[in-house]
Amino acid sequence: MRDIAIIGGGLVGLCAGLVLQHPGRRVSIVEAGNLEQSRSDGLNARSIALSASSVQIFRALGIWAKIETQAAPIRHIHVSSRGRWGVTRLQAEDYQLDALGYVIESHVLGQCLLDAVDGSDNIKLEQNAGFESITQDAAVTISYRKNKRKQKLQARLALIADGANSTARTALGIGHQSFEYGQAVVISNVEVSQPKVDTAYERFTPQGPLAMLPLGGKRYACVWTLAPEQAGTACAQDDAEFSAALQACFGFRLGLIERVGKRFSIPIQRTRADALHCGRCLLIGNAANALHPVAGQSFNLSLRDIACLHELLCEHDLGDFDDELSQVAQDYEMLRAEEQRRVIGYGDGLVTLFSNELPLFDHLRAAGLSLLDLVPALKTQAAFAGMGMTFGGNRLLRGHL
Ligand SMILES: Cc1cc2nc3c(=O)[nH]c(=O)nc-3n(C[C@H](O)[C@H](O)[C@H](O)COP(=O)(O)OP(=O)(O)OC[C@H]3O[C@@H](n4cnc5c(N)ncnc54)[C@H](O)[C@@H]3O)c2cc1C
Repeated sequence: MRDIAIIGGGLVGLCAGLVLQHPGRRVSIVEAGNLEQSRSDGLNARSIALSASSVQIFRALGIWAKIETQAAPIRHIHVSSRGRWGVTRLQAEDYQLDALGYVIESHVLGQCLLDAVDGSDNIKLEQNAGFESITQDAAVTISYRKNKRKQKLQARLALIADGANSTARTALGIGHQSFEYGQAVVISNVEVSQPKVDTAYERFTPQGPLAMLPLGGKRYACVWTLAPEQAGTACAQDDAEFSAALQACFGFRLGLIERVGKRFSIPIQRTRADALHCGRCLLIGNAANALHPVAGQSFNLSLRDIACLHELLCEHDLGDFDDELSQVAQDYEMLRAEEQRRVIGYGDGLVTLFSNELPLFDHLRAAGLSLLDLVPALKTQAAFAGMGMTFGGNRLLRGHL
């Protein structure tokens, strides 16, 4: 029997395995896909912004040095509202930090995690293994299908990390609430003529926010929130038409948009599970909370969920694990509820304030950004929320496993 089984080997499932294998736990990850194949490069890659809290967790795992060489730092963030006078700037040096966060191509981060998992004797990763059913009594039994053969896995604790449309969550009878924002996000990497070193841009427009995240050199990752029909149009446009539309919306702060990569459109919805645990099973990642990408928070939040779970498991001797498991599960749900609610509220607040065409919101937007720039305490709060530095005391954030 394994100590921990993880259903889903996405970024969150792999991170959970790497963290929770300590100290000496035997972990199995069951992943439906073939992780080695899910890669793309250069202008067509998708990216993720890592907060300072995530960087600290990777440092504790001993994998940050490798990730850092392939990530682009964000040392300045420029936030503006299209056609309005409010602007706010966040600078890493104001918070005595080397960087406010980092941007990395998702497949590069995935490969770093995969390499670390491969290098661990404690973690067994089953790929092309689709979850089928789950039962629990004195242990959790997970059935999955690999190469057309049905297989079983037993563990003391199971983590459900199979994404926003989690079938394992459904199999456990845990419901979820979905909220449609009536928006879609268009993702594309671009090259610009005048890149600004280590600077990310968040620009709020009546249609929704537009983020330009530095990938190093001339490359930026564009994450553009639009109405679904506009997103469809953007994806159907040829490169020149899309460049022109993006340029008109973003302006010339980075000079000319010289090249654009393939466009992807993803409908935006927020999904939140009705509960984070059921018996020996705990929900993490998008299976627990899939948020609007405007604030770049879902993955970072999930890492902090994992850090919290690690802390709780470390407080309990493995020998006593079974007796105390229900307490661990309840504590996990209780301890994470507040930050999860806050991060969801922060993302929703940004979307409402900055994606609304009513005139009153125009004034609030401008006033909000100017106020943020003028009142250091407010700005600090926003910066720290974005960096995920709002929970102290966690051993992973202090650099320990
Ligand atoms: C446009 C966009 C930009 C984003 N930017 C950021 C950002 O900057 N910062 C940030 O923190 N977050 C960001 N996010 C969110 C982030 O990408 C997600 O939070 C994160 O990838 C979720 O990972 P996950 O492992 O929970 O889920 P998933 O990535 O969905 O992985 C689930 C895994 O489970 C596997 N699986 C599914 N079903 C089964 C099954 N039946 N059996 C076995 N395995 C199964 C899948 O193959 C997959 O590998 C962004 C999201 C979007 C859409």
